Amino acid sequence: MELESNFIKTIMEEDLKNGKVSEIVTRFPPEPNAYLHIGHARAIITNFELAKIFNGKTNLRFDDTNPVKEDSSFVEAIKEDIKWLGYEPAQVLFGSDYFGQTYDLAVTLINKGLAYVCDLNQEEMREYRGTLTEAGKNSPYRNRSISENLQLFKEMRDGKFEDGEKTLRAKIDMASPNMNMRDPVIYRIIHIEHHNTGNKWCIYPMYDFAHPIQDSIEGVTHSLCSIEYDDHRILYDWVVEKCDMPHIPHQYEFGRLNITNTIMSKRYLKQLVESNLVKWYDDPRMPTLTGLRRRGYTRDSIKNFVLGTGLSRINSTVSSEMLETSIRNDLNYQVKRVNAVLNPLKVTITNYPENEIEWIDVEYSKDNEALGTRKIAFGRNVYIEKEDFLELKPNKKWKRLSLGIEVRLMHAYFIKCNEIVKDSEGNIVELLCTYDPITKSGSGFIDRKPNGNIHFVEATTSRKSVFNHFEPLMLDSDSKRDMVERLNPNSWKTLNGFVEIDLKDTYSLERFQFIRNGYYATDYDSKKELLVFNRICELRSSFK
Ligand code: ATP
Ligand code: MG
Repeated sequence: MELESNFIKTIMEEDLKNGKVSEIVTRFPPEPNAYLHIGHARAIITNFELAKIFNGKTNLRFDDTNPVKEDSSFVEAIKEDIKWLGYEPAQVLFGSDYFGQTYDLAVTLINKGLAYVCDLNQEEMREYRGTLTEAGKNSPYRNRSISENLQLFKEMRDGKFEDGEKTLRAKIDMASPNMNMRDPVIYRIIHIEHHNTGNKWCIYPMYDFAHPIQDSIEGVTHSLCSIEYDDHRILYDWVVEKCDMPHIPHQYEFGRLNITNTIMSKRYLKQLVESNLVKWYDDPRMPTLTGLRRRGYTRDSIKNFVLGTGLSRINSTVSSEMLETSIRNDLNYQVKRVNAVLNPLKVTITNYPENEIEWIDVEYSKDNEALGTRKIAFGRNVYIEKEDFLELKPNKKWKRLSLGIEVRLMHAYFIKCNEIVKDSEGNIVELLCTYDPITKSGSGFIDRKPNGNIHFVEATTSRKSVFNHFEPLMLDSDSKRDMVERLNPNSWKTLNGFVEIDLKDTYSLERFQFIRNGYYATDYDSKKELLVFNRICELRSSFK
């Protein structure tokens, strides 16, 4: 799928045509404070695909100006996710690489009388700031002389003050209708080691000051971000202008992507991980790219999904069904269709010789011959799914096995159930059946019809497996409700069973269709003695 025409593409076309820019340069600027989620995929795909259309380039720039939450492990994880999506940044950069230049530009602003050191604490600053309907008040420190400001800012950098004791603020307009223009803080003091610059700095620039400077230094032409930055654009432009940046980038905003019954904010995803409510960022229920990957989603399914949601300035919440449809469409044709029996019930075919195994050639997919064939085993002991047996045939619609009823074991023979073995508690533990040798699949005319067609695996050759089934993490899409209360208690269910021998050497993330059960991917934790599969999605949408 390709990027549809959208408003940003139109702007780029015009900018190139009018000579406003000579090439398109975009950037993806994640903060390395958590793993990326599928919402970020919209930002990544938009930036890279737009630049690609115009033969431009896209940088990956880590927005690491807040050392409190950032960590190098996240840097590596983010790089890997972008690579997995199939993109190669023109350059990999760090906002912290520009701390020197950013500091010098803050000094420039002070020299122009456009920035001052302020002693108000956070609470006081909030009071002075005013409200949406009420102008703010000037800080009592607003009229410090340029030389005093230069001296104090230097002392801030030299570590003379505690965290929060002083800030550097842009001197703009405390009565501006846009709150972001009411003398925003552009530098704050944080005495903490930075993942990239260590202890070199104890003052750090704010996003609104650092970002336009970084964009300008890198020659970014179109700085794309999500819509909540809309009312920061005026400050972005102010910084570019007042810092006399030689290159003038422009900011454009697009709507955020959300998915129903999912949480899509790094802060909450982090909370889920840190409170052990999920296993880790790569838990197959997580909307992180690493979680979706482990679940079995393909790169193309994610890309097609994101591209299919289009791009506008409005935030959108897309049904998780759409994501499932995307993976189903991608896998339906390309994966092998094989047998897995979940919740197994033992069946003994009493008229089949002991210690004899028969191998039957079966194609992997009747829709895709190129996948070839494999041999499936048939013998005296097989497993079927418990769900495929009911003691008494309940009604005409029941097209499975019951006492005295005959069904076809898919690709093999008709079997008839003659006797049920129960344990002392009355649970069915085994079925005694007989098979009819003349009913072998593909052997031509048979004088009767079976009561359905069920799948099976042969007991002595099949491999013991665990199947993880998932439901959405959240019970609803109401982001205003408490996250823990919204957690779906049934989001992870584990079933036991067996897969046919053909899967004995399956490797991590190999994907299959398990006949009648859904699409699955082999988990990282899968071992030869106990295979582990994650269900990606069911075969058909269960959407009502
Ligand atoms: P979150 O709000 O989930 O914590 P963030 O916006 O703080 O995420 P950043 O690392 O700052 O995370 O995001 C990098 C880029 O990805 C930003 O340009 C941001 O606008 C964009 N982005 C983040 N979430 C989404 C989303 N759900 N849909 C579209 N773009 C997003
Ligand atoms: Mg952010």
